[in-house]
Amino acid sequence: MTIAFDHSYARDLPGTYLRVAPDPAPAPRLLYLNRPLAADLGLDLSDAEAEAWFSGASLPPGADPIAQAYAGHQFGGFSPQLGDGRAHLLGEVLAPDGHRFDIQLKGSGKTPFSRGGDGKAAVGPMLREVLVSEFMAATGVPTTRALSVVATGEEVWRDTKLPGAVLARIAASHLRVGTFQFFAARGERDRVKALADYAIARHYPDLSQVENPYLALLDAVIATQSRLIAEWMGVGFIHGVMNTDNMAISGETIDYGPCAFMEGYAPGTVFSSIDHQGRYAYANQPLILGWNLARLAETLLPLLDPDQDKAVDIANDRLSGIAPRYRAEWTGVLRRKLGLVGEDPADAQLAEDLLSAMEGADWTLTFRRLADAAALRPLSSDFTRMEVWLPRWRARAGEGAAQRIAAANPAVIPRNHKVEEALTAATAGDMAPFHALLSAIQSPFAEAEPYMLPAPTGFGTYVTYCGT
Ligand code: AMP
Ligand code: MG
Repeated sequence: MTIAFDHSYARDLPGTYLRVAPDPAPAPRLLYLNRPLAADLGLDLSDAEAEAWFSGASLPPGADPIAQAYAGHQFGGFSPQLGDGRAHLLGEVLAPDGHRFDIQLKGSGKTPFSRGGDGKAAVGPMLREVLVSEFMAATGVPTTRALSVVATGEEVWRDTKLPGAVLARIAASHLRVGTFQFFAARGERDRVKALADYAIARHYPDLSQVENPYLALLDAVIATQSRLIAEWMGVGFIHGVMNTDNMAISGETIDYGPCAFMEGYAPGTVFSSIDHQGRYAYANQPLILGWNLARLAETLLPLLDPDQDKAVDIANDRLSGIAPRYRAEWTGVLRRKLGLVGEDPADAQLAEDLLSAMEGADWTLTFRRLADAAALRPLSSDFTRMEVWLPRWRARAGEGAAQRIAAANPAVIPRNHKVEEALTAATAGDMAPFHALLSAIQSPFAEAEPYMLPAPTGFGTYVTYCGT
C-alpha cells in the first residue's frame, strides 16, 4: 500500500523540529501488528510493510521524519531542552473518518535531542506500552495507540543486554505542554502563538471563531485533561511520570513508561523506582494536573492579554476552576462505577465513604463485585465498614445495578504480575503469554478468571523503571 502522508506540523511550524532519519534496523522482525487499529485508520498494511517501515529498516514513501522539540518540568525541575531523543515522527495521515493522526516511531535511534541516551528501546517496555494503551482504549480512556512493535535484531544495553524494538505510535498529535514551554522559555512569542493556532486548528477547530481563542484553548485543555485524569483514577492507573512533557494538548494519555495499575486501594501508591517523594502517587495525580496546567497557562500569558497583570488575573481565574472541575469529573466517574442513575447531591459522599471503607481491598474487583456481597467479603481484610456502607449503596443504586456495574467496571486489567510474566517471556522469545494477556485486556469487561486474580503474595512490591 501507499500511506498518504501529510506533514502539517513540519509545514506550519518551521523552527520547532529537526529533520532526522530513523536508524535502519539490521534484522527487523514483526512482533505485533494492531490490525483492527490499522483498519480503522485506513492503513491496509501487509506484515512485510509494517516490519520494514515501522522498524526504520526502510522509510515508507512520502514519510518525512522529524524529531520534535519540547521542554518540560521533570519532577518539578525545568529542563529547557528535552525533545524527541529516541522518536521520529514519520508524518500525519487522515483517517477515513476525517481525523488527522501522527505516525511516530519510538526507539528508532538517536537525534540531536538524545543527550546521553542511546536513542533505543527494548522489547519489554514497547510491548508494555501496547498492553497498557490497548487496555485504555478498550475501556474508553483517551490514549495514544500502539500500531506495531518490531524487534530490530539489535541488542540494547540497560542493566543487562536486551533485545531492541521499535514501537509505531498513533497519536491525535504529539503536542505537549512541554512543546509550548520550549518556545515560551526562549521568549519566542511568535512560535508560541503559531503553536497555539496550530493546536486550535487541529484539536479544537470550533474555538478559532471565539473572541479569545487562546483563553478558549486553555479552557479546552483544562476540560479534556480533567476528564482524562478522572478516567485514570477510575481504572486505578498511575502514570508514573506526569511531567509536563508527558501531558498532551489533545487530552490523550501519552508516554507509557513506568506506569502501572494499583491493585489494593492505597492512595499513596507509587510504582516508579525514581519517585522517592511520591510526587506522582495515585492520589496526587489530580494535584499534578493543576500544577501542569498552570505551566501551560504561563506559556499562554502574552496571548491572553497584552497587559501582563490582566493576563495573570485571567489565567488564575481559570486555574482556580480546575479543582472543582476535576471533582465534578471524578464524581461522574464514581457514579458510573457505582452504577448510579441520575445525580443526587449525596453521591460524592457515598463514593467517598466507599473509598475509606475499602482501603487495602482490590480496586478493580471491589467495584466489579459490589452487587455480590459473598464475592466482595474476601477482598477486604476488615469487612465491617463495607457492611455498613453496602445497604446505603443498594438503596441509592436500585434496580439493574448489577448490570450497570458489570458494564462500567472492567473485570480484567493489566495486572502487574501478568504484565511482567508476558514481557519476560517475550524478551526470551516466547510471544504466547503476551498475546493471551492482550486478548483478555482487549475485552476487559468479560470475566477471564486467570487474569482477574490479584498478584500472588509472593510477587512482592512492584517497582517500575524509567529510561527503558
Ligand atoms: P520520557 O521519560 O520517555 O518521557 O523521556 C524524557 C526525555 O528523555 C525525552 O526527551 C526522551 O526523548 C528522552 N529519552 C528517553 N529515553 C531515551 C533514550 N533511550 N535515548 C535518548 N533519549 C531518551
Ligand atoms: Mg516523554
